[in-house]
Amino acid sequence: MTTARVQIPKFWKPLVLTALTVSVTTTTYEYIKVLFFPHTTTWQSHTATILFCTILATMAAYLMVRRERASVVSREAFEALRSQNQIILETVDIGIYLTDMAGRITFANPAGAKLLGWEPRELLGQLLHQVLHQVMHHSRADGKAYPLGECPIHTALQAGSSRYSTEDLFWRKDGENFYAEWSSLPLREDGCLMGSVLTLTDITERKKAEQALRTSEFRFRRLMDSNLLGISVANLKGDIFEANDESLRIFGYTRADLDAGRVNWARSTPREHLEADARAIRQLTASGVATPWEKEMLQPNGTRVPVMIGVAMLDGENCLAFTLDLTERKKVEDQLQQSEERFRQLAENIREVFWMTDVDKGRMIYISPAYEQIWGRSRASLYENPASFVEVIHPDDRNRVIAALNRQVIDGYDEIYRIIQPKGDICWIHDRAFPIKDESGRVYRMTGIAEDITEQRKLEGAVHLSEKMSAVGQLAAGVAHEINNPLGVILGFAQSLVKRVPEDDPISMPLKSIEREALRCKNLVQNLLTFSRQGPARDEAFELPEALSSSLVLIETQARIKSIQLIQDIQVDGSRLRGNRNQIEQVIINLCSNAIDAMPKGGTLTVSSSAIMEKGQPFVRLEVKDTGVGIPEAIQKRIFEPFFTTKEPGKGTGLGLALVHEIVERHQGRIECRSQEGGGTTFILLLPAVQELSGVRS
Ligand code: ADP
Ligand code: MG
Repeated sequence: MTTARVQIPKFWKPLVLTALTVSVTTTTYEYIKVLFFPHTTTWQSHTATILFCTILATMAAYLMVRRERASVVSREAFEALRSQNQIILETVDIGIYLTDMAGRITFANPAGAKLLGWEPRELLGQLLHQVLHQVMHHSRADGKAYPLGECPIHTALQAGSSRYSTEDLFWRKDGENFYAEWSSLPLREDGCLMGSVLTLTDITERKKAEQALRTSEFRFRRLMDSNLLGISVANLKGDIFEANDESLRIFGYTRADLDAGRVNWARSTPREHLEADARAIRQLTASGVATPWEKEMLQPNGTRVPVMIGVAMLDGENCLAFTLDLTERKKVEDQLQQSEERFRQLAENIREVFWMTDVDKGRMIYISPAYEQIWGRSRASLYENPASFVEVIHPDDRNRVIAALNRQVIDGYDEIYRIIQPKGDICWIHDRAFPIKDESGRVYRMTGIAEDITEQRKLEGAVHLSEKMSAVGQLAAGVAHEINNPLGVILGFAQSLVKRVPEDDPISMPLKSIEREALRCKNLVQNLLTFSRQGPARDEAFELPEALSSSLVLIETQARIKSIQLIQDIQVDGSRLRGNRNQIEQVIINLCSNAIDAMPKGGTLTVSSSAIMEKGQPFVRLEVKDTGVGIPEAIQKRIFEPFFTTKEPGKGTGLGLALVHEIVERHQGRIECRSQEGGGTTFILLLPAVQELSGVRS
């Protein structure tokens, strides 16, 4: 409110005031003159009084001017202050409210109104505590009502005391709530309580930040305290000043050691790891993080603990390290490595092929090196194409094997088959598979073992043959004995009749036939008897070339008739044998006869012999080779069986090779047949030679 006032120009003011003072003083002039100068002369008293009044008036005027000036200055300062306060109140980000003693809001700054979501003028005149408790302070954070009697702002006003808090929740007009920092101060004037000043600051963001900090601190603490891994804080010199229990356990120190500053990274590091640590520190300082690396920690008692370390810079000087104890893992790794090593030694040194595939053979999981020896193919080729092992299976066996493979998950798998090795050799395989099941019993892998059983089969074959031979031998011996005597009578009478009956007699021809056939039978019986005769050969030393030439004389004639060329390549030296010369001649004749039979359209028959050394022992090697029809593979293993023949009845007895086999065995020799259908046949014999003093040429 302003009052009307007469404005007087500034420079007039002292003059007017002086005039007023003079007029006032003139009336009192007389009194002053009478009072102060009663006994002086008139002019003297006048002069003295005027002088006195003038001095008085000047002093009064001077004082008045000064006072007026001062009042003008203080009013200007007040105005400036007021506008300054106004600016502050309007721009400050803090809500400021004044109340009178009744609690009525007498002032609210714009920030204060905005904070509560009200218009400033809506707030004026309202009871603050009504606003507070019905609108902005009505419930606590947990939703419970906030009774007025418990409101600290309200009680502070009533008590005329000051209060401060950051824990109260306030509510805006729109129902949103926020945490505020508030203070309530009593408002006094001349010591008299007039109301209060309330300030309010929204601290939602601060609270959020505090909460986030608390959460992250909690998490970090939890991580530290869980001791799942060692966590420590150190400076770049390696002094560790914070560490969880796991770290201390790994480093081999106590908490007391840590508190006393006795734990140091470099001291806990074996010398050979210092270099790697230095590298990590360089990386750490350059980029803030060091890539985790493995090392060992050296405990004060000398124990070494394998660990994995990771480090990150915290600030310019300190870093945070995690340490993971690898002892258990290393132990498991070692065990695994040992067991792998054992498996590898087993799988790689055994002659059998170990294999493992997933269930549909789509993938080869393991194949042992023996595969390369037996199959003659690389393991890589099998890993690449797991079905490729089937490609070399003998065509006669292949389909059977494939069918068995398809059934293996259900029935298991146990097959014997032949494979053809790269050089064309046949190899017999015994391949067995075993299903591997998971916990639910489902087959998810197959493992197996494939074995080369070629030798075994040969032996089995030999046993089979010799069993057959001995059975036949016994039978033949019995039969031969029984036939020999009646045959002797038949032949004896037939021969004497042939001599007595003249040539032109019609009975002569049938008699000769009887004699011829009886002789053939006698020969056969003789062979049977030779074949079945047990015991060692007769001990007699003889030269093989001699036995050869007397046998080949008989063969030469036959060969010539069949237009077969006979080539002989006989080595004389070192060809002395010990045994039964007749039987050896029988062997040569039988082999050559078969060769001639195999070349009905002619060909070449080569008989060669040589002296060789085998394992320090002298042998004679005899070879009978023809260019005939050859022997089909399927029957090769049967040709030595007694009575096995492919020739028509009357032409072959099937005893020739059985006899050869028997005789060679009896002389501790060996016989082998190499033949290809249509490609000729070669029989190779090895017979022990008699040791000569001069030695043998090989
Ligand atoms: P046989 O000559 O009486 O038939 P062997 O025991 O001498 O009886 O021979 C058995 C079978 O072996 C013969 O029937 C023939 O099929 C086969 N064989 C033997 N030697 C040869 C050969 N050099 N060439 C082809 N086949 C042969
Ligand atoms: Mg024969």
